[in-house]
Amino acid sequence: MPEQKVVVITGASSGIGEASARLLAQNGYRVFGGARDPGRANPIPGVKFGTVDVTDESSVASFVEWVLTEAGKIDILINNAGVSLVGPVENTSIPEAASVFDTNVFGPLRMIRAALPSMRTARSGLIINISSVLGFLPAPFMGIYASSKHALEGLSESLDHEIRGFNVRVVLLEPTFTNTKLDVNAAHTQAPLGVYEGQTKATITAVQAQIKSAPSPQVVAEKILAVINGPYKMRQPVGGQATLRSRLRRFMPANAVDGSLRKSFGLGKVRTS
Ligand code: NDP
Repeated sequence: MPEQKVVVITGASSGIGEASARLLAQNGYRVFGGARDPGRANPIPGVKFGTVDVTDESSVASFVEWVLTEAGKIDILINNAGVSLVGPVENTSIPEAASVFDTNVFGPLRMIRAALPSMRTARSGLIINISSVLGFLPAPFMGIYASSKHALEGLSESLDHEIRGFNVRVVLLEPTFTNTKLDVNAAHTQAPLGVYEGQTKATITAVQAQIKSAPSPQVVAEKILAVINGPYKMRQPVGGQATLRSRLRRFMPANAVDGSLRKSFGLGKVRTS
């Protein structure tokens, strides 16, 4: 019988993380799910929960140490935990922005720094970083979130060059809108919206409508399973919409991409001189 592969996934308490942990366990993987408060996470058959706050270095270190003590190895690390922030860039305070980067960029970095030594020693491993379509496209009024995912993309591509010689690779998974609690859980910038009020509200309405009719997190979970079992490819958009947007970004004239993006975020054309 082939040895059971060990998967670690952060943010397994809800949305994409929960669906992925469940699907991977159902498919024979030994899954360790991270949650800030495992007591509040829905139990998932075959998934062991541990406490991890990815913004806390010592929490990350003891979580990874616990998995290595239990399982002796980590084959696949899925950096899924993430937060969003809604509001105009001009109104965003540095602590608000730093808090998003602390979770979405430094969180994966902390997890990678903790898990990578054991992968390098084993000369085998896969790191899946959950980015977003907003990791290669801008998002008005979600500028800090989008820039955190752009940063995660740069970090992932750089890292992949450094570690592939140890037979450890990095994948960027790029879902489009997915029906989770991400937007409900999103923080909003504290400063009054002022001149941006109308546009911000239009964008929030457009995003909420898109999330409501978006595919379930199961779709992302199935893609994760396919990525683990399929041939290696760095960038993996999830579903037709994300693949289309990825291609448009690369091959379409910038003007056309700009127009379609404004429309999907509820913004109209602006005449500039
Ligand atoms: P959810 O809000 O449902 O889940 C987010 C998860 O991240 C929760 O389990 C939450 O755990 C965890 N989390 C947040 N902060 C921390 C922290 N400091 N330490 C540890 N865990 C933390 O959203 P999604 O499932 O949608 O989000 C999962 C990932 O998918 C994110 O990286 C997001 O950016 C990405 N994504 C989502 C899209 C969408 O439209 N939904 C589209 C593209 C990408 P807790 O229970 O402790 O709060």
